[in-house]
Amino acid sequence: MEKQNVPELFGSMVFDDRVMRARLSEDVYNSLKKTIDENERLDIAVAEAVAAEMRDWAVEKGATHFTHWFQPLTGVTAEKHDSFITPSPDGGVIMEFSGKELIKGEPDASSFPSGGIRATFEARGYTAWDPTSYAFIKDHTLCIPTAFCSYSGEALDKKTPLLRSMEALNIQAKRILKLFGKEVKNVRTSVGPEQEYFLVDKDMFEKRPDLVYTGRTLFGAMPPKGQELDDHYFGVIKPRVTAFMEELNAELWKLGILAKTEHNEVAPAQHELAPIYSTTNVATDNNQLTMEIMQKVARKHGMVCLLHEKPFAGVNGSGKHNNWSMATDTGVNLLSPGETPYENAQFLLFLCAVIQAVDDYQDLLRLSVATAGNDHRLGANEAPPAIISVFLGDELSGILEAIKTDKPYEGTKKVIMKLGVDTLPRFSRDNTDRNRTSPFAFTGNKFEFRSLGSSNSIACCNIMLNAAVAESLKQYADKLEKSKKFEDDLHKLIKDVIKKHERILFNGNGYGDEWVKEATKKRGLSNLKTTPDAMPHLLDKKNKEMLMAHKVFTETELESRCEIMLENYCKTVNIEGLTMVDMVRKNYLPAIEDYLANLAQTTSLMKSVSKKVKCNYEISTMERLSELTDYILDRVVDLEEALENLKGYDDIIKTSEAIRDDVIPKMEHLRKHVDEAEMLAGEKYWPFPSYGKLLFSVY
Ligand code: ADP
Ligand code: MG
Repeated sequence: MEKQNVPELFGSMVFDDRVMRARLSEDVYNSLKKTIDENERLDIAVAEAVAAEMRDWAVEKGATHFTHWFQPLTGVTAEKHDSFITPSPDGGVIMEFSGKELIKGEPDASSFPSGGIRATFEARGYTAWDPTSYAFIKDHTLCIPTAFCSYSGEALDKKTPLLRSMEALNIQAKRILKLFGKEVKNVRTSVGPEQEYFLVDKDMFEKRPDLVYTGRTLFGAMPPKGQELDDHYFGVIKPRVTAFMEELNAELWKLGILAKTEHNEVAPAQHELAPIYSTTNVATDNNQLTMEIMQKVARKHGMVCLLHEKPFAGVNGSGKHNNWSMATDTGVNLLSPGETPYENAQFLLFLCAVIQAVDDYQDLLRLSVATAGNDHRLGANEAPPAIISVFLGDELSGILEAIKTDKPYEGTKKVIMKLGVDTLPRFSRDNTDRNRTSPFAFTGNKFEFRSLGSSNSIACCNIMLNAAVAESLKQYADKLEKSKKFEDDLHKLIKDVIKKHERILFNGNGYGDEWVKEATKKRGLSNLKTTPDAMPHLLDKKNKEMLMAHKVFTETELESRCEIMLENYCKTVNIEGLTMVDMVRKNYLPAIEDYLANLAQTTSLMKSVSKKVKCNYEISTMERLSELTDYILDRVVDLEEALENLKGYDDIIKTSEAIRDDVIPKMEHLRKHVDEAEMLAGEKYWPFPSYGKLLFSVY
């Protein structure tokens, strides 16, 4: 790869602040900035001026088209390209792009999932520019990040509720800061998502219908070697992967994405990429782009990037860690312990707001990461358990305990803590004792939510997290704004919150059976194991009320989203089931038959030549394989029936439960027999590349 000038490359395809400042007139720049920073309404004259500059800039960079780039509920991004060309009177064309085209688009909404909104409301939808996320050029197209709504105003995408949740948190956090004597322009949440993925050879990928249709392997016996040697984690990166990572970084940097850390992960062929954190809606856009570009660049290097949560049984699956914090426009991280007693009290209040939010809305956080793919990870002793709890570490836990009991904190120095008066004892922000089994861990100045699946949009969990924290903050502000003795009441409030919500705090091993017992039986925490268990809670009264009170979702939006997510779960597993049937009937059974025929012919041939040969190997293998083909047939018929039965349900919750209770167990049963047969049959008879080849062939 040629030498790169990274600072020059970085953001070269983004219409960012540097470009705006250089190209827009001062008036236009200032009023756009007000829209971006303070949510002020955008004037159409300003939009016209911005559009004209954006077009000139984009055309100079070689763009011929523009698109409103949005995030429908499919979970991937959508774009519909229009060229800039407009006929000119002389028979040629000129490149045009108006303010109206910048602000609003009208894609046909009818082919995107809407969970009934479309039927009851309007067929059309529109996209609206999100000026807080920069426009960029991708594949000669100017992409304008937008929100996507129905004409009746219902959100049809993931960005709209995310922006609303950020605004809800902004409003409440500012109320709290005011109580501490601080006026800020805004409080925004930031996210740094760590993205895991697998790379497999493209030719082998294409030979596996399960990977092609479902993104994961549905069959495959374990190779002699898996991840047990821990030799892949942080291991030397193979040359082909290095070349991929270099090109990926360059492409991401051009788009202003702060790709920072890359390394091999635990499983063979598994890797991770982490960017430097940014404002949540920008981080969300960037993560969607990162996933898209990973897949594109991998193909150019003869590989396929798998973003599925569990591409291979028997080795770790892929997740995404959502590092989250709140900060003011003045650059103060509200989750960072401060220097003065007053700052400490403020830090503890925001900390409490998060603890309470996670406790009160465990179910919302859990369901925000629930998909068919992620069900394979959560609770499988490789990812956090399905039970949501908060890890604070021993020191911070000790501090909270001291506050709760008015006892001295046994830190470096004995101190009784009077909030707002005493300094918080210094506690180290050392990362080493971090508990990897915790779904929601405080890591010094941010919380890390670790339950996300690798293919999840990070919008979903951040919507819930922002809204839930906004709700805690609202309750605190309602109380404290009325307070006559602020410091006393603040102290009492924090104490009360710790007492009421300490059940969610857990520093121990989240993988143990004891934790499941303690969490569910003693502490009353919820343990929503699968998507059908979790998703219907979106419509629980307390959840609906909270999300609606903060104007994050309307009731119709909530109902439609629950339906869409469950529908997605059902469709995903149904496709997997059908793919299994297809592979078994068309490939596995015929392959085993061929091998059996070979064994049978060999046996009779050998016996006809010599009376002494026993043919133990041939006969025992043949007998077991023949038995397995009968089992496989029975199991595939079972699965076919279970899939057929799904058509009988007209209720999506019932369908999803039937999948959980009937279809998935039958898929697992079928797989077991096929994988056993793989261990017995000759390799050259086996119709698909093995796990060993898929996991270890890229070099
Ligand atoms: P790891 O979890 O692998 O040890 P780090 O803790 O260094 O790695 O960071 C992981 C991610 O957290 C990175 O994307 C980083 O930018 C992000 N991050 C760091 N500080 C913050 C913060 N204050 N708010 C949100 N994300 C942050
Ligand atoms: Mg991490």
